Order: sequence, then structure tokens, then C-alpha cells
Amino acid sequence: MDRREFLFRSACGLGALYLGGLRHAFARPVASFNAKLDFDAGHPWVKVEGPFDGTKFSGDEHRRPHDILWHLEQYIAGKGGRPSSIAESVDVLIVGGGTAGLLSAYRFRHHNFLVVEQASQFGGNARSEEYRGAAYSLGPAYVTIPDAGSELEKFYQELNLRAEAREEAPDKTRVLFGALKNLREEPGAAGESARAWEELLSRLLPNLPSLPPLSAEKEKSDALDSLTAESWLKAQGPWHPLVMEQLQLYAWSSFGGSLDEISAAQFLNFVASETRGVMAFSGGNGAITRRLYERLKEKGEHRLRAGTMVLEIKEEGGYVEVLLEDAGGSLRRIRASALVMAAPKYVARFLLKAMLPAPREAVWRELPYRAYAVANILLKEKVEAPAFDIYCLKGTVPPSPSFGRRTDRPVADFVFANWAAPDAEGPTVLTAYRPFPLDGARNFLLNPMLHDRLKAEFKADMEQNLKAMGIGPDQIAGIRIALWGHSLPLARPGYLSSAALADLGGRVGERVFLANQDNFMNPSFEACFEAAKLSWEEVCAKKLLPLG
Ligand SMILES: Cc1cc2nc3c(=O)[nH]c(=O)nc-3n(C[C@H](O)[C@H](O)[C@H](O)COP(=O)(O)OP(=O)(O)OC[C@H]3O[C@@H](n4cnc5c(N)ncnc54)[C@H](O)[C@@H]3O)c2cc1C
Repeated sequence: MDRREFLFRSACGLGALYLGGLRHAFARPVASFNAKLDFDAGHPWVKVEGPFDGTKFSGDEHRRPHDILWHLEQYIAGKGGRPSSIAESVDVLIVGGGTAGLLSAYRFRHHNFLVVEQASQFGGNARSEEYRGAAYSLGPAYVTIPDAGSELEKFYQELNLRAEAREEAPDKTRVLFGALKNLREEPGAAGESARAWEELLSRLLPNLPSLPPLSAEKEKSDALDSLTAESWLKAQGPWHPLVMEQLQLYAWSSFGGSLDEISAAQFLNFVASETRGVMAFSGGNGAITRRLYERLKEKGEHRLRAGTMVLEIKEEGGYVEVLLEDAGGSLRRIRASALVMAAPKYVARFLLKAMLPAPREAVWRELPYRAYAVANILLKEKVEAPAFDIYCLKGTVPPSPSFGRRTDRPVADFVFANWAAPDAEGPTVLTAYRPFPLDGARNFLLNPMLHDRLKAEFKADMEQNLKAMGIGPDQIAGIRIALWGHSLPLARPGYLSSAALADLGGRVGERVFLANQDNFMNPSFEACFEAAKLSWEEVCAKKLLPLG
């Protein structure tokens, strides 16, 4: 199911709902875990040696872009100026090798394409690591179950990913509240409220508008987008505090925003898209970027270049001209018939400075992105996964954090990384999610003392969580933390119904096409898929390339 749209009718037809639903047997064969991997320097999936006792973060590689883009002219001058000649020409140049960039490249695989990625690895925040046979994600953990026969389903099949996926039905969802529980099966008010939430969705789903809205539904969709998720929930409530607590943590974990910040339209879009359950791969969504990367490499090693950073882009003489710094530190000029900008807008606005009209630049400059820390907790022994994604409840709805009011919830939820590979041997890894649902938190991530502090907080919280699951807290053998500074674009109320949304997608000039999750302010694989598809369609419609 596509998270960009409210495809409620089909979800409803299946009858499975968020905090519960009809019992479906989502039994699928799980592929053997230890597929042989072709590791190379730019691979989105790497083997790590461990033990996890260092003080280095993984995740964003922000130093180089910060240093260069903030002082671009000085930097170029220091390198001897712009090269005078064009070093290379391609049909399509894709800037950014995250999920959207790799999906774009896959669309253009029959053309003369080139993908450049500034970081040392492809994948963006959809990357994975493998420690002694245990694969885990540094970020995204799951996708929604695609509609039968949909383009998404065909894509997973084409990449042999469908057979490797393990699905979890919503009625299997567990929370950790003293012990592992299924909220809808709880006696008393908590269970009643969870079931009422489920019933509400069943009544609501057939009547919810599309997103972005079809013209006939715009009024309805705009009305929903004018509300925060919290005000929408309050109007439908009251809800038991445990249900509200889970929804608050869900909002933090999915959007890096609190219920009182996120658009009700966006929030319901996500909730609805998961009504049928979710689908996970061993190693999380890095399994998707890994497969894309490997398929694209078959088209020629030289077509995927890690450590290669684009510095500026302009259109000239019927081409796009790009200045980049290659992995060896040399400046090069490359010419392309079309360019797909798959880097996020907070970077793209620097790269497209020469082409971006001022009002559009102003829209991009103001977009809010939220930060994230993800800790992979290595356990000493193998533990069977009792469930997939587990929310950590404490019995009260945590208030939205702000500066001066820190949250007492280091971990919103955690996943058993071995859930999609139950037969895998080796240690079990738990991936614990700590979103920062407030503006400006990324500055806190630059604090040089941060590692030990974050690690101590993750450890203390996860020890308690383990204890509640009957796992000795002394089982923790090591913790590896990834930081993501601007990872989640946040759709505040009014944004998805505003004219500004149109500024995030489409084209800049005649030959630059935008494809990133932030086209829809929607942090999901499905948004990347849709963005890559739309930009590819636009390039094809404009007939900018030789027939592929
Ligand atoms: C902790 C976390 C958990 C998540 N969980 C889920 C989940 O369970 N399910 C889900 O569907 N989604 C999830 N998401 C969201 C999902 O990961 C994103 O939607 C997706 O990875 C975004 O991909 P992207 O290609 O749009 O952007 P990015 O991943 O940001 O990729 C952009 C790429 O462009 C590169 N780049 C930037 N500047 C330049 C330049 N000048 N030159 C060359 N390259 C450049 C960057 O280095 C980066 O690799 C999660 C996100 C996070 C952070």
C-alpha cells in the first residue's frame, strides 16, 4: 500500500486494523539469512567486526557537506577553480544515492545513467550492518504490505524481495507495559479503548479522502490537514491513556513530531497504510537498497560512485552541467541531458542556487526536518523474537518535548532485528529508536560529549525493557549508535493542502527533476518510490533522453 495515498477502501475490504483486527495468517516462507554478499566500498550493507564498545557514531557523514557548501567559492578557489572542460557526458545524472536515488537509477537502468553519492556508502539512512551473521538496520525497519498486483508488489518481486519478507499482522502488535501485551486483548478500559479505536478506523476508512486530494475531495482533505493529529483524536475520543501513549510514541517514531504538531491528514495516512500489517526484511530497508545497488552495479561499476559530492548545478546549452568533487578530491564537470535531484531540499537549495527562483528557495529553506538516534543493542545470546516492533509504554502520555522540557523516554520503540530471519544464528540485535521530536535538536547531536551520554541513556532504558521481557539486563554485550541529523521531514497542519507542496516536486528549470521523500514531506520508502516514479515519468514525457 502506498503511504502517499489513503487507500482505505482496499484496507477496509481486508478488515485488518491498526491496534488489532481480524486474524490473518500472514505466514510466508522466510529466505535463508546468510545470502552471500558482494561487499565493496560503497555498499549500503557492511560487515562490522565489533565488539561494539567504541565511541564513534555511524549514520550521517555531515562534515564534508557542511564544510564545503557553507564556503563554496572559497573551497573551489582553494582547489584551483572550476575545471575548464567537461570530463564526461551521461544521459541521466542522479544526485544522491539514498532510497529515492537508487530507485530513480533503477528506473533509468536501460539508459546511460550515473548515480553520485557524497557519503562513503550508498543507501542514505536505509543502510544495514552485519555483525557475526546478525543483520540489523541503522534506520528504517519495515514497509507496508503492497496491494496485490500493484507496481510496488511487482517491484519487490522483480528484486526477489517479496519472498524474503516476513509480514506482521496488526493483531500481533505488542507493547511493553510491565510485560509484553497486546493492548486490544487487555481486560478493562485499555482493551475497550483499543477496540474502539479499531472500530472507529473501520467506519472512517471508506470515507477518507486521498492525499494529495483528488479535486472532488479537496475540501474534505484540507479540513483534515487543517487539524493536528491530537485535535482530531480529541474530537473522536476520549481514548484510554495507553492508546494515546502508543499513538504519541508512534508519531515520534514515524515523523519525529508529536501528536500536537503533525497534520491529522499525514498521521492518518500512515496509520491507514499499516492497517493490513507491515513487511520487514532481514537488515531492514537496507535490504532493499542493497538489492538495488547490486542490480545497478551489474550495469557497470562506474555507474555508482560513492564519496562523490555534487557542488553546483546549472543548465546551459540544452544540457545540465554539474560541478562535483570525486572520491579522490578532484573537481570535475559533468554534462547530462537530465538530472534527478534525489538529495533532500536542505542540500538541494545550495546545489541549485543558480537555477532556483527565490520564492521556491524560500519554501525549501523553511522546511522542518527532525533528527534521530538509533541504537543497535547487541545481546550476548540468541533470543527468539517474541514480536517485531515493540512500543515502550509507561502508563502516561508523554508530553511533547521542547527546549527546557526533555522527555523521559529515551526509547520510543524497538525492533527485534532477527524477527525477519528467525533461523539466523549468531547474536540477537535489538534496534532501539530515539527520535528527537523538537526543532533544533540536531545541534545537540554535534556535542562532542554526546556519545557516552546517549549510550548510557539507551543502556539504562533498554536494560529495563529487557528485564520486563524476562531477559537478563546483563545480556547487553555492546551498543552501536547511528545519528541522523535531518532525517525526517515533518508535515505540520496546513502544509499538505497548501500551494507550497507543489514547490517540492516536479521540475526546476527544464531538465532537473526532484525525487526525494521530502517531495511529499513523508518519511517512508513508499514516498521515495512514488517520487522516483513521478520524476521518471516526467523525464520520459519530456523526451529528453535517447530511447532506452
Ligand atoms: C531512524 C529512521 C527510521 C525510519 N523508519 C522507517 C521505516 O520503518 N519505514 C519506512 O518506510 N521509512 C522509514 N524511515 C524513513 C526512510 O528511511 C526514508 O524515507 C528514506 O530512507 C529517505 O530516502 P531519500 O532517498 O529520500 O533520502 P536520503 O536517505 O536522505 O538520501 C539522500 C542522499 O543524498 C546524498 N546527498 C546529499 N547531498 C549530496 C550531494 N551534494 N552530492 C551527492 N549526494 C548527496 C545523501 O548523502 C543521501 O545518501 C526511517 C527513517 C529514519 C531516519
